[in-house]
Amino acid sequence: MKEPKYCPHCGRELVERDIDGRRRLTCPESEDNYTNWENPLPVVAALIEHEGRVILARNREWPEKVFGLVTGFLEKGESPEEGVLREVHEELGLHGTIRSLIGLYSYPQMNQLLIVYEIAAAGAISISDELAEVRHVDPMRLRPWSFGTGLAVRDWLIRRGIAV
Ligand SMILES: [Zn+2]
Repeated sequence: MKEPKYCPHCGRELVERDIDGRRRLTCPESEDNYTNWENPLPVVAALIEHEGRVILARNREWPEKVFGLVTGFLEKGESPEEGVLREVHEELGLHGTIRSLIGLYSYPQMNQLLIVYEIAAAGAISISDELAEVRHVDPMRLRPWSFGTGLAVRDWLIRRGIAV
């Protein structure tokens, strides 16, 4: 996650300060009182079952062979459920339904909180410009990765009785 360099209120360069034992970037202008708290951003993610298989997607900006779940940020005023179904529709052209919340996962490398749902979807896929390609993976052949949405994939497989 890129740190902001300047104060969003007054434009001064932020300085490091120790607040309650943590290093924070703050505005040197004491009246401004701006601190970058670096709170994690919530991100919704979808483990989509489509025609008996799980959809993994590769973002256009990711290296080849790197696939993950469909993810996205929430719009203002949107519930996580609405947001994840909107993302599924925008990225894959599919109308999904929520089966369950798989769980909440912290993703410290990205400073995000992942809210991961199991989604059922049917119909023809048409991928958005954000994605390079999608892959259909048989649940028995799905291998979780050890960070980010991979932790939800692992939990989902365990719940289905598939050894990981
Ligand atoms: Zn400032």
